[in-house]
Amino acid sequence: MEDQESQEIILKGIGGSPGICIGKAYLVDKEGVDVVKRYIVRKDSLSAEVCRFKTAVKKAREALRQIIDNIPEEFRQHAQILETHMLLLEDKMLYDRTIEVIEKEQVNAEWALKKVVSLVKPMFENMTNDYLKQRAEDITHVSDRIMDNLTGADHVDIARIDKRVILVARDLSPAETSQIQLERIKGFVTNRGGRASHTSIIARTLEIPAVLGVGNATLKINNDDIIIVDGKAGIVVVNPTEKTLLETEERRERYEIQRALMVRQSYLPAQSKDGVRISVMGNIELPEEVVSLLDHGGDGIGLYRTEFQYLSRRDFPTEEGLFENYKDVIDVMGTRPVTIRTLDINGDKALNYIRDNPEPNPALGLRAIRYCLRKPDIFKTQLRAILRAAAFGNVRILLPMISGVDEVQQAIVLLDEAAQELARQGVPYNRDIPVGIMIEVPSAVIMADILADMVDFFSIGTNDLIQYTLAIDRGNRHVAHLHQPLHPAILRMVKRTCDIGREKGIPIYMCGEMAADPIFTPILLGLGVDELSMNPQAIPMVKNAVRAMDTSDLGAFLEEALRLTTPKAVEALLKQTYGSIVSNIEPV
Ligand code: PEP
Ligand code: MG
Repeated sequence: MEDQESQEIILKGIGGSPGICIGKAYLVDKEGVDVVKRYIVRKDSLSAEVCRFKTAVKKAREALRQIIDNIPEEFRQHAQILETHMLLLEDKMLYDRTIEVIEKEQVNAEWALKKVVSLVKPMFENMTNDYLKQRAEDITHVSDRIMDNLTGADHVDIARIDKRVILVARDLSPAETSQIQLERIKGFVTNRGGRASHTSIIARTLEIPAVLGVGNATLKINNDDIIIVDGKAGIVVVNPTEKTLLETEERRERYEIQRALMVRQSYLPAQSKDGVRISVMGNIELPEEVVSLLDHGGDGIGLYRTEFQYLSRRDFPTEEGLFENYKDVIDVMGTRPVTIRTLDINGDKALNYIRDNPEPNPALGLRAIRYCLRKPDIFKTQLRAILRAAAFGNVRILLPMISGVDEVQQAIVLLDEAAQELARQGVPYNRDIPVGIMIEVPSAVIMADILADMVDFFSIGTNDLIQYTLAIDRGNRHVAHLHQPLHPAILRMVKRTCDIGREKGIPIYMCGEMAADPIFTPILLGLGVDELSMNPQAIPMVKNAVRAMDTSDLGAFLEEALRLTTPKAVEALLKQTYGSIVSNIEPV
């Protein structure tokens, strides 16, 4: 889209982190270094060329080591990725093969490196395992670093940026992102990346607007261009007209005021106008997120995804390590509930130290509870740590990916065994805690009436429930538009789960992403979900939505919504009935 008169250009990408910023572009790097092929015939020149390559790799290693050593505490979890980059710099596939190509084909180091990367990268890209697939990105980061040293390209030192700018880059590697001095960066724009990339995750955590996956941002944007980043719409406006600037500035101010107001009010309870109160909780992956959860008004932890503690390391954590970690979280949360979900690894969260055969279909494979029941020792270590931590606070245990009765029975047997062992050893613990299951596999919805008699609560995981019900791979961008929470099949499943919960007298929680979007709040309250849990940044908005509503109108609305047959029709009805509440609170 190009406005001829004004030269205003609109670039479309993926909204990586909401919010709007206006500022000067700062290009971190330009697309592609032109690599030419040079033949080297003399033998001594050839060994000099190998030496040049080795020096470039050495420089890259030194630079990376310095970055790793200087990583601030809050980004420690990214150090593992950089250690992977360190290993890649010594990797036979990359290092030895490049030297081999220089020597055998008698070519310059740049050409040899480019050739090797073009051979190695597709091998990773074509792998079915998501974790290995992502390693293709690491190869790019590492080879770019060596290439910069070879070509003498001026790599901008992000840590030294001293102006309030918007970063524009082909990609921001984890190393770069972790060096950014927050107070100096207004936003990000990158050619590559998606919503699940590291840049995006960090930007959301830090509440910096970001648009990713623009494709040609580094070609279309020049240094010092004025640009607008709209992180919600996923749009970048280059050289905006006066009119666009004014409109955006107004929108930005409205957004900032609204957001500040909502965060200020987030300590208020989520109570509707007619007095119905629900808990609005936070999902966390790491203990460090607890503070942000409380700052955003979270009533407790509705989902602690404990697998992240297993991911960023070389071996399984110890019982003591897990216990300390859970206790840290519990200590900060005081009497508020802390829902600890047991290990949900594999699927898209494979551990690099599990060397079992790669699975052709990991989402349908030995994931979560299935893995834990196959490895009772690993599972029991975690259960013991949870039971011990439960002696210090208000803990619930949540079992992931339950598909039937046997899994619950077996898990409870192991939990009881763990408690008995602790009792025998005289270690303090608390077994008298609620045990619940994730409702995220269709068979669990169908069996909900039986399962409800076995546990104390259900927590609906819409991310997987949609994936498994609608047959939509949640990580596949080609079918992302079909990942629809308002699909009548999903609404019926949530309804059945809530109806059974009421009938059997157990509470129904929701911790999937559906809970985080205020547009869905009326429907979830209407269906009778008792507690919503979400990423901490979303808590103020959802609380606000609850406070703006009157639940006495919900019955009629729900009856009509459940008669509709397409997601579009349900959405239209939602907007028509509750649009004013949502547009009031949605970030612009
Ligand atoms: C879910 O599936 O909705 C869920 C909350 O769990 P996860 O996203 O960790 O699979
Ligand atoms: Mg899940």
